[in-house]
Amino acid sequence: MQTVQFFRRLLGLTSPWSVQRVTVAPEKKRVDVTLTHRRPVPFPCPECGVALPVYDHTASRSWRHLDTGGFLTLVHACVPRVRCLFHGTRQVLVPWALEHARFTIPFERWAIDVLRETDVLGATRLLRISWDEAWGIMARAVSRGQRAKQKRVIARLGIDEKGIGKGHCYFTMVNDLDRGTVEYVAEDRKQESLEQYYRSLSEEQLAGIQAVAMDMWDPYIAATKVHVAEAGQKIVFDRYHVMRYMLKAVDEVRKAEHRALLAEGNRILSGTKYLWLYSEENLPEPLEEWLAALRGLHLKTGRAWALKESLRDLWSYQRRGWAERHWRHWYFWATHSRLMPVIAAAKTVQRHLPNILTYFEHRVTNAASEGLNSKIEAIKKTPMGFAIGIISRWPFTFTVGASISTLLGRKAEGRTKMAGALMPLQGL
Ligand SMILES: [Zn+2]
Repeated sequence: MQTVQFFRRLLGLTSPWSVQRVTVAPEKKRVDVTLTHRRPVPFPCPECGVALPVYDHTASRSWRHLDTGGFLTLVHACVPRVRCLFHGTRQVLVPWALEHARFTIPFERWAIDVLRETDVLGATRLLRISWDEAWGIMARAVSRGQRAKQKRVIARLGIDEKGIGKGHCYFTMVNDLDRGTVEYVAEDRKQESLEQYYRSLSEEQLAGIQAVAMDMWDPYIAATKVHVAEAGQKIVFDRYHVMRYMLKAVDEVRKAEHRALLAEGNRILSGTKYLWLYSEENLPEPLEEWLAALRGLHLKTGRAWALKESLRDLWSYQRRGWAERHWRHWYFWATHSRLMPVIAAAKTVQRHLPNILTYFEHRVTNAASEGLNSKIEAIKKTPMGFAIGIISRWPFTFTVGASISTLLGRKAEGRTKMAGALMPLQGL
C-alpha cells in the first residue's frame, strides 16, 4: 500500500487517477506501475474540453518513467476514450504524459536536460532509449517552444540559406537581426520555404517588418514581395552575400591563372588560395610580405584582388550618394578588367544594385546570421535555440523530410532510422 502511495506522489496523480498496483521484479531490475481511474467519471474531449462519459478504453498502453533505484520503471494504463459530437471518438489526455508520448513528463524533462548536456548518441546510452525516441522527445520540445512563442513583431529580418553536405540540400533560416535569434527554419530554399514563414505571421507582424536582409536569391525576393508591403524598399541584399560573389570571382581568376602558369612550369600561385581571399586588414601578419611580393608581379589574380578590396569600401560610406559614386567608378573598372569572372560578378551586383543601396537606409546586415551560423554549436535555453544546437551537431539531421533522409541514408549508415523520427518537425 505504501508503495502505491509513493508512486501516486511520484507521478503527481490526482483524482480520478490512482495507482492500482506496483509490481517489482528484482531479477529483471524492473518496476511496473499500473494506473486506474475511478468510475463512472466524465473526461473532457481533448479537442474542445466538453466533459463526456467514457465510451471505452484503449488496450493497455505503457510509458517509460524515471528509473526507480536503477530499476527500469514503466507506467501502464488503459486510456479512456470519449465520443465527442464534434470530434468523434478520441483518447483523453492523461496527466502524466503528453499526447502520443511514450514517456512520462518527468522522464521527458530529464531526457531534455541530458540531451542539452550531451549529443544524441550519448543521451541514448545514458537514458537507454533509441535514436527515434531521443528525436521524438526533441521534436516535441521544439513544437512546444514554437507554440509558446509569443507573436511579437520582428522589425529586421535576416534570411539565410544553409547548405547541407556537398551543396545538394539546403534549408532556409529566418533570423531576428536585433535579438540574434533564429525564428524559423524551413526545408529547402524555394519561394515556398520562405512563404511558409510569412504565412505564419499575423497582419500586424507583417506590417511591422521594416527591413529584410538576404542573399540575391530570386525565390526569397519573390516570397518577400508577395507578403511584405513595399518590399522593394525593405529588401537589403547583404554585404556578406555580395562579397561572396566577388570572392568566388577572385578564386576563379586565381585557378585559371594558376593552371596557365603551371603549364609553363611556374608554381608561383601554388598554395595561395586563402592569401587572396582574406580581407586586407585581416590578413595574418606573417603573410603580408608574401602577398605584397605577389602583388608586385602584376598578376591577373592581383588585379582581381584589388577590385575585391575596393568593392568592400562600398559599405563604408556615410551617405548613399557617395556610395553610388564609388559604385559607378568601381563598375567601370571591373567591367574593363578583362577578367571574365569579375565582370560576371560585377554585372550580377549591378542588376541588384537598388536593393544593395537600401543598406544606407536600414543599415542591416546578415552579419548576425553569419554569427549564428558559426556559433550554431551553442545551445541556448530556448526551445528554438535547443533545436538549432542539434542542427549543428548533426548537420544532416534536423532539417526535415525525404531529401534529408536520403542524404542521411547515404552519408551515415545506421542513422537512417533517426531521419524517420524527424518528420513531425515540418514547419519548425
Ligand atoms: Zn470535442
